[in-house]
Amino acid sequence: MSVWDDVVGQPDAVAVLRRAATDPAAMTHAWLLTGPPGSGRSVAARAFAAALQCTGTDGETGGCGRCRACTTTLAGTHPDLTVVATDKVVITIDEVRDLIMTASRTPSSGRFRVIVVEDADRMAERTTNVLLKAIEEPPPHTVWVLCAPSAQDVLPTIRSRCRGVVLRVPPAQDVAELLVRRDDIDPAVALTAARAAQSHVGLARRLARDADARERRDAVLEIARRIRGVGDAVLAAGELVDVAKAEALAATTERDAVEKAELLRALGVQEGDTLPPRLRSQLKQLEDDQKRRATRRQRDVLDRSMVDLLSLYRDVLVVQLGASVDLVNAEHDGTVRALAADSTPEQTIRRMDAIGVARERLEGNVAPLLALEAMTVALRPQG
Ligand SMILES: [Zn+2]
Repeated sequence: MSVWDDVVGQPDAVAVLRRAATDPAAMTHAWLLTGPPGSGRSVAARAFAAALQCTGTDGETGGCGRCRACTTTLAGTHPDLTVVATDKVVITIDEVRDLIMTASRTPSSGRFRVIVVEDADRMAERTTNVLLKAIEEPPPHTVWVLCAPSAQDVLPTIRSRCRGVVLRVPPAQDVAELLVRRDDIDPAVALTAARAAQSHVGLARRLARDADARERRDAVLEIARRIRGVGDAVLAAGELVDVAKAEALAATTERDAVEKAELLRALGVQEGDTLPPRLRSQLKQLEDDQKRRATRRQRDVLDRSMVDLLSLYRDVLVVQLGASVDLVNAEHDGTVRALAADSTPEQTIRRMDAIGVARERLEGNVAPLLALEAMTVALRPQG
């Protein structure tokens, strides 16, 4: 057992990080971990942090997974570990200034002071510039671990000062094995989920454990077959948007309330009191942040639906071209074959293009319903 066990399908990256943790000659004080969503950036960053702090068990160092330094780092409670978590909408300049303060302190008990920034791409340029100086000349015991989807997502100035480690999309089989081992999931369910999630570890886990999530995904894929005309297409787009809204709301409502209660408490306001005017702007700020987070979440859910649809048409194309590769959606074999028989490869490619365009529009802040209607209309049978 070691801290690297959960970093699935990344032998090359693990080799580099593991060596850095045990060999001072291979060590650097600023790292940039990149990889597509679901490749396990934050898991790898935490494992690396644990390996750096590891004090060893039975002579095994570099992330034994059993010593107190390892277990507390993985649990996120090690006093010399700071993690800027991933669900932030945007990392503010004040937060970065706090981080830099923290980074300048010597470790209290650990071997290093480790600062993990899970989404280094969510910083404005001005904020990044503040961070730059800290990364350039870190104190000897401080290690920065920045994560981003790709190196292009961070400013070149930051990139050039960090050592890059690239994570790849892990094989579905590896993801399935992790789900079986760590979450005690049935092997067949695990493999289906890993394929359906296209090796996105967190998503595969949710699909494997949550029947509702599987149902929602099935419903999205059903849309492909249900759309016969423009009327169905418009309805389907509305449905996709509504489902995403509901899911985003379910995920954020409870947390929003907790954050608001915490803020009011911090401001010394009792529940039910009227908020003094001078404090209103702080509450407004929080509410604006929460609104942005909900919007972002909704767009993430929608994007995921489109990736699912894309995987379905990819399967259709596989069948149409007679390619001998596994279907992502083997359990939707019937739908895939029906669509394949009903259209030409050129039409399938056009549909995939339409989904791609909708994803881009959504990313570019086009109103979700507009982007999706254009997409679903393009998915209907072309006669
Ligand atoms: Zn250890």
